[in-house]
Amino acid sequence: MTGGRDRPTPATLREWDDEFVWHPFTPMLAYRGEAAPIIAAADGFFLIDGEGNRYLDGISSLWCNVHGHRVPAIDRAVREQLDRVAHTTLLGLSSVPSIELARELVLRAPRGLNKVFYSDSGATAVEVALKIAYQYHAQKTTLSPTGDVLKTAGVNPAARSARRDLFLCLGSAYHGDTIGTVSVGGIPLFHSAYRDLLFKTVQVPSPVTFRRPPAFTPGGYLDHCYAELERLIVEHRERAAAFIIEPLVQGAAGILVHPAGYLKRVRELTRAHGILLIADEVAVGFGRTGTLFACEQEQVCPDLLCVAKGLTGGYLPLAATLATDEIYAAFLAEPSEGKTFFHGHTYTGNPLGCAAALASLRLLEERRVLENVRTVSRQIATRLEVLRDWPFVGEVRQKGVMVGIELVRDRATSEPFPPASRMGHQVTLAARNRGVILRPLGDVVVLMPAPAMPAELVDRLCDVAIESIHEATAKAKG
Ligand SMILES: *Cc1c(COP(=O)(O)O)cnc(C)c1O
Repeated sequence: MTGGRDRPTPATLREWDDEFVWHPFTPMLAYRGEAAPIIAAADGFFLIDGEGNRYLDGISSLWCNVHGHRVPAIDRAVREQLDRVAHTTLLGLSSVPSIELARELVLRAPRGLNKVFYSDSGATAVEVALKIAYQYHAQKTTLSPTGDVLKTAGVNPAARSARRDLFLCLGSAYHGDTIGTVSVGGIPLFHSAYRDLLFKTVQVPSPVTFRRPPAFTPGGYLDHCYAELERLIVEHRERAAAFIIEPLVQGAAGILVHPAGYLKRVRELTRAHGILLIADEVAVGFGRTGTLFACEQEQVCPDLLCVAKGLTGGYLPLAATLATDEIYAAFLAEPSEGKTFFHGHTYTGNPLGCAAALASLRLLEERRVLENVRTVSRQIATRLEVLRDWPFVGEVRQKGVMVGIELVRDRATSEPFPPASRMGHQVTLAARNRGVILRPLGDVVVLMPAPAMPAELVDRLCDVAIESIHEATAKAKG
């Protein structure tokens, strides 16, 4: 190959992109006609294509960027790590930055989460949590008040009736794209093709009122959701291994924001009935909702916590599943007892990723990024108020710097646009012409500025989103 001397021209790259690259979550037939930007570089909160066009990164490069791109302190941390070692395994060995990062995560995480199991993506962090939860119940020992082992599940026949192999999850949940994480997901568009391959789960209705069954008032529907939550937890308390939830905000479902107090209620009920709580903070973690972790806002301490996306500031693929000492203890035994957690990925705990994450955590504090989130989130709420009068906006939902603007054909009935019109996508194309990168979820226009994005750029993002929504939907007025 060229060794970097003869750089392919933008036109050649476009041809090669069409010829060789299969893009994720992308209808390829439509994509190939669209001349999407081919990003060659970045500068702060802007992405730059091969022809030098600059685009404001309005979705944090798919919800992971925290401080912008080419941040000197993170670049330096990665380069310094590169001068030591790029990768070495955590299977039976350790590495310097993985140890340091584990300690920093434990210091900041909700109380009780003292053990860090690394992997490399959000889906693997969740997959790990599901497997740990399942195996924990099979192996946990019950101690008497004096500390004697009373029974070991799976060994004592009496304990076998306590086998827990069922997961509770929310309607429209999204936890990743592997078969395990798809099993606990609830978005039909992503999941229906694999229905026959998935393990069994119990779906609890998502506590949001926008598209509720017609028989309910909004308040009545929330009451119903709370009642169903309790009913299903009680009904399955013997079999349920864990309840998995995206705390406060269900991202991929369309930025669905839960009512205050819901997460706390889930914690009370799961604790009362011996069901583990898995908090999937892959999207909401690292400041996006205004606190470092979303669970903090309801003083909730989950049993397992999954992080990925923003962990490295959006630099490198790294993920972690945090667990309590109690869970960890169920896996501590002589090798011959067969209680080891046999799970690990080749690039688990990659040192470059850990170095980036350490630098990102430092910056979050030094630059008071959480304060910025609180400031710009108020600004966004004010700026988007004009959309509430626009006939094609059904609902504007927001928590911190996570924003979903749901477009509808008829606001009175919330009737959606026909899917073929790809209205969310039309808004994305209109925004691109104005120098802003967006990516919708169906007809929900998503704004996901990086938590550190300064106010003037957030203003520009709001301006362009409003103009683009007006332009794309005005055509529907006919
Ligand atoms: C993105 C996301 C995942 C999956 O993360 P990947 O790194 O894409 O595998 C899991 N859970 C939530 C809540 C997410 O938003």
